Amino acid sequence: MNAKRIDGVAAATRVLQTVRQDVAELTQSGVQPCLAVVLVGDDPASHVYVRNKVQRAAEVGIRSLEHRLPTDIDARELLSLINTLNADPTVHGILVQMPLPPQIDEASVIQAIRPEKDVDGFHRENVGGLVLGQNVLTPCTPTGCLYLLEQVLGELSGKHAVVIGRSNIVGKPVASLLLQAHCSVTLVHSRSKDAAALCRQADIVIAAVGRPRMVNAEWIKPGAVVIDVGINRIEENGRSRLVGDVDYDAVLPQVSAITPVPGGVGPMTIAFLMRNTVRAARLQNSLPVQPAAIR
Ligand code: NDP
Repeated sequence: MNAKRIDGVAAATRVLQTVRQDVAELTQSGVQPCLAVVLVGDDPASHVYVRNKVQRAAEVGIRSLEHRLPTDIDARELLSLINTLNADPTVHGILVQMPLPPQIDEASVIQAIRPEKDVDGFHRENVGGLVLGQNVLTPCTPTGCLYLLEQVLGELSGKHAVVIGRSNIVGKPVASLLLQAHCSVTLVHSRSKDAAALCRQADIVIAAVGRPRMVNAEWIKPGAVVIDVGINRIEENGRSRLVGDVDYDAVLPQVSAITPVPGGVGPMTIAFLMRNTVRAARLQNSLPVQPAAIR
């Protein structure tokens, strides 16, 4: 095992252990956290994601409900289901698996979920709360990235972090979380001039682009910590494989730590979804809510 390799599977196991304890305590006090997962259509990848979420929930004692809807469903029917789940006091988290079929506007579905049940952290009230530094439900993958960084570096204050990508689900929220952790943050995107030069200044690089191995050794300052969010399926030497946005083998000699793909950030996403479900259950029962990030 390479000492520089950040083991996301082990980190997720540690997070899930604390979640399991929280769930047991809450359940004993009469509140069993419950996650409702809504799956529309028959996208094979979405089915796998939902199955994994339901399985992980069972492992930590979270009750889960699965709602499967046909591809040709009307937006009103989906919104009506969300309203029912919003009103059900035994349901604490609602997750609508994306992508949705083209006749359904994803943004309006996200806004229909009660913010206290929005375990993805995508509702505009949670997005705004994150920017304001409030203790809200934050997006799972970005929160997982912060957890890994804190495990590796301890204190993040004063570090220069470069985030490559500015999507609403990864780039922007991870930048807000880094800012909350007192980093200086640079966001790099497709219009940035000389992204590599900006990146070379970073103590921390978070790549969330969706371009296989885009970040090579010339982008990385010696000793930097690299978190690779990208998941890209490529064909190589006659076989299909997953790679990140970072050329792992090329940058390994000069980083102080790096997440592999797969087995880095990926497992953190589900772990923090479970943690958000517990936080949502506490929020809805007027119990003290743990901060989004854990150390
Ligand atoms: P998006 O496609 O929504 O965003 C990609 C971002 O990359 C955009 O902001 C885009 O800039 C920027 N970009 C594109 N090309 C370049 C370039 N040449 N130089 C610099 N920036 C560039 O992707 P997501 O944020 O949804 O996902 C990013 C990756 O992370 C994907 O591989 C996805 O599969 C993975 N992912 C992994 C998760 C996990 O659990 N591990 C969870 C979520 C995503 P612009 O805004 O200017 O277009």
